[in-house]
Amino acid sequence: MTAIHPEDLLQQFASDNYAGICPAAASATEAANQGHVSSYGDDPWTARAADAFRELFETDSEVFFVFNGTAANSLALAALCQSYHGVICCESSHVETDECGAPEFFSNGSKLLVAQNAEGKLTPESIRELATKRQDIHFPKPRVATITQSTETGRVYTVAELRAISDECKSHGLCLHMDGARFANACAALDCAPAELTWKSGVDVLCFGGTKNGMAVGEAVLFFNRALAADFDYRCKQAGQLASKMRFLAAPWVGMLEGGAWLRNAAHANHCAKYFAARVSSIPGIQLAAPVEANAAFLLAPEVVLSSLRERGWKFYTFIGGAARFMFSWDTDLARVDALCRDLEECAALRM
Ligand SMILES: *Cc1c(COP(=O)(O)O)cnc(C)c1O
Repeated sequence: MTAIHPEDLLQQFASDNYAGICPAAASATEAANQGHVSSYGDDPWTARAADAFRELFETDSEVFFVFNGTAANSLALAALCQSYHGVICCESSHVETDECGAPEFFSNGSKLLVAQNAEGKLTPESIRELATKRQDIHFPKPRVATITQSTETGRVYTVAELRAISDECKSHGLCLHMDGARFANACAALDCAPAELTWKSGVDVLCFGGTKNGMAVGEAVLFFNRALAADFDYRCKQAGQLASKMRFLAAPWVGMLEGGAWLRNAAHANHCAKYFAARVSSIPGIQLAAPVEANAAFLLAPEVVLSSLRERGWKFYTFIGGAARFMFSWDTDLARVDALCRDLEECAALRM
């Protein structure tokens, strides 16, 4: 039998999906574990969770619950595209770099049209360029633009930026999809209502992430343009994303949304990222690679410093733009952040 040691359970900052389940999601799961209810989403928990989303977003959207973000994004994009269409995205976007071709697979071949941008944000200019570059029959027809809020690079799109993007999309007949794996972090960072950051700014479909926000599992797909949701239930079922015990995918959302934990969790994670950034930016030899706007901090540090940090047991990724990424979550303990900062200081000092 493999033993689990306390040191294996210490908080790490490699990803915000290292954290466990928050109390709001756990207690709602517990509450849903009473009695028998109908399966496949025909139950009171699923209805209540969908209503909680409609209330939070102040509009009558179509809501679906799936297991993870790759499924949410790729099935949503597939719903917006024919196989001969193109999806404009950023080169650092999760759909391009981290979904194993699922958007292309589930759309039966829609091509991702990739924009370069050092900040990891799609711009109206890059959308225009990709939407107008080729108009001939030999190239996939651009149909959708997808943006990530907050971005893979830890940035947020402001309302003004979203409006400029959606105006550009409209002028080219493109739908606008939002990967909101960290949508809650963007709402907290911008102090903006969910409606403002989505349908009021021209977003047609949102994938709202629950996992990184404090749930065990689950993402919600919200179609603000309800016509686009036609047959989406069949798409989910065919892709193996229709939970038979749907109440357990839905109930955690009831716990997260009704009591406001979704926003408190995100605000705490964002606060910890800012706290970390403020502490490390004064360490000689270490620099923030980008402004900290949500729950991520990216550090530029000499390779020897990063490897000695790893030798001290810290985990982090450097695959996004070469900088070391630290992610903060709903349960981040500032004492553990302090421990990381002290080790960073020591590793940096040894190198000087
Ligand atoms: C984590 C994440 C997802 C979802 O990933 P899954 O592992 O499929 O749940 C989607 N988009 C972004 C930007 C993410 O960081």
